[in-house]
Amino acid sequence: MPIDATQPYDEHNIFAKIIRGEIPNHTVYEDEWALAFHDINPQAPVHVLVIPKGAYVSWDDFSVRASEAEIAGFVRAVGKVARNLDLVVPGYRLLANVGQHGHQEVPHLHVHLFGGRPLGPMLAR
Ligand code: 5GP
Repeated sequence: MPIDATQPYDEHNIFAKIIRGEIPNHTVYEDEWALAFHDINPQAPVHVLVIPKGAYVSWDDFSVRASEAEIAGFVRAVGKVARNLDLVVPGYRLLANVGQHGHQEVPHLHVHLFGGRPLGPMLAR
């Protein structure tokens, strides 16, 4: 079920548990600001989720409350993950779902990074 992106942060959401190490993940990158790991249900040959370490529900929440350092750290981490995975030349797609219409299911900000094949049009028609 898609979430309401205006709800308060839920410390028990699945990505909060992953950050705390309570649930295993296949990490591809980690630094002070961000964690990147393989999506459990990949939609492309490469499907990685990049999440900020801070407690933010969505892109909206992050863009309002995060510090400049957190925002810079997270954005740089997304770029670094794509470079580390050699996705820059073939290309890749970033996607952040927000709230009901965005069909966001996990209430911790995450950017999907897709690659490894031509990805087709941006939205299903
Ligand atoms: P959303 O629809 O919120 O943008 O995407 C949530 C994503 O999280 C989905 O692609 C889903 O497969 C992924 N996901 C949900 N639970 C887990 C989990 O426990 N581990 C991992 N690695 N991915 C998860």
